[in-house]
Amino acid sequence: MRYCPKCNKHTEQKLERVKTSGRRAGSSLKKGRRKSVKLNYGYGGSPYPKLENNRRAGAKTSQKVLIRYSCKTCGKKTQTINARRMKKFEIAQATGQ
Ligand SMILES: [Zn+2]
Repeated sequence: MRYCPKCNKHTEQKLERVKTSGRRAGSSLKKGRRKSVKLNYGYGGSPYPKLENNRRAGAKTSQKVLIRYSCKTCGKKTQTINARRMKKFEIAQATGQ
């Protein structure tokens, strides 16, 4: 049971996982992106020294998980704003309540 803003009451809702790949959490960081483009442009290129070992160290073992709730009564969909990082994600059927 979860609150539905359209029905204005607690309704039975379906859980659904939303993929977060290729998505940036929070803002899109547009200004920082523009700045890096300007710095790298033209003769001279990047002002930062090249990384010698360009391998990403310590790859994360957990994934970001976004959950979308859809109301079974009216079909209104709401999504969690913040993606949470977790190793394992599974939708369990709630019993009772
Ligand atoms: Zn609803």
